[in-house]
Amino acid sequence: MNRFALARPASFEAAQAALNDDRFTLPILKAGGIDLLDHLKEGLVEPDALIDIKRLGRAAGRSPISRQGDRIRVEATTTLAEIASSTVLRQSAPALAQAIEDAASPQVRSVATAAGNLLQRPRCWYYRNSKFFCNKKGGGTCFAMEGENRYHAIFHTGPCVIVHPSNLAPALHVLDGTVHVMGGRRKQIPIAELFHMPAEGIFSEHNLEKGELITHITLKPVEFCGFYAIKEKTSFDWPLAMAAAALELDGQTIRSARICAGAVAPIPWHLPEVEKALVGVGLDDDSALRAACERSVERAEPLEHNGYKTKLLPVAVRRAVLRAAGRGENKQ
Ligand SMILES: Cc1cc2nc3c(=O)[nH]c(=O)nc-3n(C[C@H](O)[C@H](O)[C@H](O)COP(=O)(O)OP(=O)(O)OC[C@H]3O[C@@H](n4cnc5c(N)ncnc54)[C@H](O)[C@@H]3O)c2cc1C
Repeated sequence: MNRFALARPASFEAAQAALNDDRFTLPILKAGGIDLLDHLKEGLVEPDALIDIKRLGRAAGRSPISRQGDRIRVEATTTLAEIASSTVLRQSAPALAQAIEDAASPQVRSVATAAGNLLQRPRCWYYRNSKFFCNKKGGGTCFAMEGENRYHAIFHTGPCVIVHPSNLAPALHVLDGTVHVMGGRRKQIPIAELFHMPAEGIFSEHNLEKGELITHITLKPVEFCGFYAIKEKTSFDWPLAMAAAALELDGQTIRSARICAGAVAPIPWHLPEVEKALVGVGLDDDSALRAACERSVERAEPLEHNGYKTKLLPVAVRRAVLRAAGRGENKQ
């Protein structure tokens, strides 16, 4: 591992200045450091400066999650544990707390941050292994396309079949989430526009510009929202398929729905076909509900080893919808 400088700026402004400091050729922000340290250990990145922002945006005695007008504000450095246990989120945007309550492990959740979770790099085992010079590292091959691809995308357009790993991203998508940024042309970016497909840029998954950093996130309170993840095991593990749902209800009938899936595509995967099919569906009409959720996979193109995800995704969507409507886990 190369030597690097460590900066501990006292404000986001100072962090941004350090990012633009000409003395550094590759300065990188470190929040919780969970994903970044994995990258350093594997030799996937070789920064000459780490800028530690873990404690920024946090005032002693003040919650990092607060109401801001008609939105909820989550500081970028809020930990996943704080999100999972937040009373404000549990009452007004439960999908976000549900998204993270079982993610990773208690140790990871107590350190990992909201912005770091959104910007963590993909889990593709070829990308994570320094011995594979894949497309994402400037090589000419996606080893997963024809190789071991059981955890990879069922929605993809090439030249890389990663899945977006963040649990928070699909939940924020249905809650009209927005990241607030500093240091670039824009002040805010809707979550729906934060990520891009590999064909639009293979070396990163997000649309932040060089020198831009996230200061906080805002989202809309939604009474009927829910999240459901399907994993291989219930302890720390990344989901195989996950879904977030935000509903408007007329009694027991769905008036409108917003649905986004995770772990199935290189970006949080919006499902407008399911949203359309859910309109007018009664929550007690199980066959109509299943038929609407089945539409989640109509655009899927599974790879050799991940066809099973086309069975999981409709289940995750249906359980997220039922959870949004307050109908519990519904493990049928
Ligand atoms: C065993 C294990 C299981 C896991 N399971 C899950 C899971 O089920 N679901 C899930 O979603 N995640 C899971 N994770 C991933 C984990 O949640 C992320 O690695 C973590 O959230 C990253 O947050 P961090 O604060 O540590 O980010 P860091 O590692 O510090 O940073 C990650 C990236 O974000 C950038 N960054 C951080 N903050 C900012 C900012 N404010 N502005 C701009 N750039 C920034 C950094 O420069 C870096 O590139 C798991 C991790 C482990 C180890």
